[in-house]
Amino acid sequence: MKDDALYGRFFTFWPRVKGFVLDTVYPENAVCRSCGKISEGGVLCKECRERLRNDGFTMAWDREELDPGLPVYILRPHTGVARQMVLRLKHSAEKCVAEELAGLLQPVPEYVGFPPETIVTWVPMPKGRRQERCIDHGQVLAEAAAECLGLQCKQLLDRLETKDKAQATLGRDAREANLQHAFRPAVKEIRHPVLLVDDVLTTGTTARRCADALREAGATEITVLAFTRALPGGPGD
Ligand SMILES: [Zn+2]
Repeated sequence: MKDDALYGRFFTFWPRVKGFVLDTVYPENAVCRSCGKISEGGVLCKECRERLRNDGFTMAWDREELDPGLPVYILRPHTGVARQMVLRLKHSAEKCVAEELAGLLQPVPEYVGFPPETIVTWVPMPKGRRQERCIDHGQVLAEAAAECLGLQCKQLLDRLETKDKAQATLGRDAREANLQHAFRPAVKEIRHPVLLVDDVLTTGTTARRCADALREAGATEITVLAFTRALPGGPGD
């Protein structure tokens, strides 16, 4: 095994071991997943939870058009505790972190309406990274979001690329090339509205390519939901 692969496994495995050990030692006082302090039994300490709720709240449920007919809702800027939580989820795929992030969906404003037959889905991880991490953090987040919104969650996309080039490290053109034909529908036919959940939106290329694949299976009503939005000049990880 290559050194970097070994390091990658350790890097993704260690936070889970640490969290488990600390949660066992301090069952009533879990560790804050953002700042590392002992929290009062929650995923976040009181201060970090308030910051997650309030920092960038003015951006909650902001609507943009990625392409004509492809709206995206944003919940928070990709900074501070929200960014920490997204990174944490990427590396550990902890369900409790996903559920904390899903809490940002509430309250859902009146102008946002998802028909009850809407299917929530996610951007599947590249195969190599999924094997390394055993679990797809996108799925964990989509399931938490679906539960929060009272909608069904289902895998609608497969990922074809095996080259594991992390999108966050690439420029816009390279992202386009890396993702061309990367996705295909995982089901024969899609006849219901789709809510595509993604953790962080940077250029929107990934969401566009996923929408292309969903349309191939017949989806006509696609909405993207991004928990955080990378800001110009800010980190896009
Ligand atoms: Zn904290």
